[in-house]
Amino acid sequence: MSANKTGYFTHGSCRLHEMGPGHPECPQRLAAIDDRLLVTGVLDALERREAPEASLYDLELAHERMHIAALRGLGAELKDQIAAGGSPYAYVDPDTALNLHTWDAALHAAGAALAATDAVIAGELRNAFCAVRPPGHHACRDRAMGFCFFNNVAVAARYALARHGLKRVAIVDFDVHHGNGTEDILAGDPGVLMVGIFQHPFYPWTGEPPSADNMVNVPVPAYTRGMEVRELVELLWIPRLEQFRPQMIFVSAGFDAHREDDLGQLGLTENDYAWITHRIRDIADRHAQGRIVSSLEGGYNLGALGRSVEAHVRVLADL
Ligand SMILES: [Zn+2]
Repeated sequence: MSANKTGYFTHGSCRLHEMGPGHPECPQRLAAIDDRLLVTGVLDALERREAPEASLYDLELAHERMHIAALRGLGAELKDQIAAGGSPYAYVDPDTALNLHTWDAALHAAGAALAATDAVIAGELRNAFCAVRPPGHHACRDRAMGFCFFNNVAVAARYALARHGLKRVAIVDFDVHHGNGTEDILAGDPGVLMVGIFQHPFYPWTGEPPSADNMVNVPVPAYTRGMEVRELVELLWIPRLEQFRPQMIFVSAGFDAHREDDLGQLGLTENDYAWITHRIRDIADRHAQGRIVSSLEGGYNLGALGRSVEAHVRVLADL
């Protein structure tokens, strides 16, 4: 019965988007996840589904029409640039570039979270993980930044509220970086509670203090370890989540707070990711009929990324 299964949403275009040689946000990240889930047998227990494209209409739940049009325009202009012998990349910031496949990949990355939301709310799947890139949590209402173009999780949260009529959804963000884009889009939205923990001070230099009451931001210094993170989650996230009683939970699942990940300096391990996922499941089981949609954000050490996603998905899928 697939109603008890965890969905695994991905799309081939997500492996064609790339931002240049040596860029940490690389296509091999998805291969590392896929390989790990395959060799451990976890993939067999999941229901694999092809991610559709998000519609521009749905993207406008979280983004300005001009932002969407500008990205599409940049993609089209890039074709001319390449035809004229220019660079295969169009930069939106020094770390964030489009190639010929970025527009397509970004639509499927957002579309994965939307299709997962539909399937979980319909009861076809218990919960879902979206193995997609580009990631989303730095993408603001009106701009791309920090490897992100569309805010996959913010679009899906708004979609659950607007298209499915939910009244309260929670977002959990455990990426090492503050989800500034998600905060930009959803600060002050009475239908949303966002809880996050992130290294501070650190890129993108936001989140402290939070910009609205529905943002539960927990900044932690470099070299904070898993046990301390667990205490803070228990003390600062859980009471707010219990009080809010979310009808569905979205996860910005970044794994760059892992101790082996050089893009951040926090000390989490696979066991910490499993523990956090258990706590998310407890809240979802109590208030949200178990409904969780998790979408990949950061995580750049390929070995640690594969193991951490495996730990996260094992808890989602009860393996
Ligand atoms: Zn990150």
